[in-house]
Amino acid sequence: MVLVGLGSNLGDREAQLEAAVRLVARHPAVRWRRISRWRETEPVGGPPQGKYLNGAGELVTTLDPWELLAHLQSVEEELGRVRTIHHGPRTIDIDMLTYGQMLIDDERLRVPHPRITERPFVLEPLAEVAPDGIHPATGRTFREHWEECLGAASRQSRRGGLA
Ligand code: ADP
Ligand code: MG
Repeated sequence: MVLVGLGSNLGDREAQLEAAVRLVARHPAVRWRRISRWRETEPVGGPPQGKYLNGAGELVTTLDPWELLAHLQSVEEELGRVRTIHHGPRTIDIDMLTYGQMLIDDERLRVPHPRITERPFVLEPLAEVAPDGIHPATGRTFREHWEECLGAASRQSRRGGLA
């Protein structure tokens, strides 16, 4: 089981997410099993930019992790993503969140994606598509991580927010 995160914050965001889903599955060795709904989220980090539309999906593939990364990047390119500012606005961002229980950390690929557990816009759709999925590094389910993230957010708002 492979979990993938998708996001867009430029142009027709929903059309681009839908096109990404279609193009990812055009590879004969890739098949989606579930796609979350799309959610509008505030940008995190980077320059001031518009809101994102984010989601996540579960797919099955016989590609190895590096082959899958290359395929996801070819879809990003096909949809006109221009790599300019790190964490800057983008027509489409496709991240490999997990690849089974594999732990990979090389110059091209890190899975599980290092910032899953701190990003609500990743955890919420992950908890929707794979609530009982186990985070390969923490050993906890995505439901638990999402609930913890919600708890941290509500403790923060009771304290009066970030300020
Ligand atoms: P970000 O998603 O962090 O805003 P990019 O989408 O521009 O940044 O990705 C930058 C690089 O991250 C890519 O060139 C890719 O090789 C690398 N990368 C490392 N791990 C992953 C992963 N799990 N999924 C997608 N890209 C990854
Ligand atoms: Mg990315």
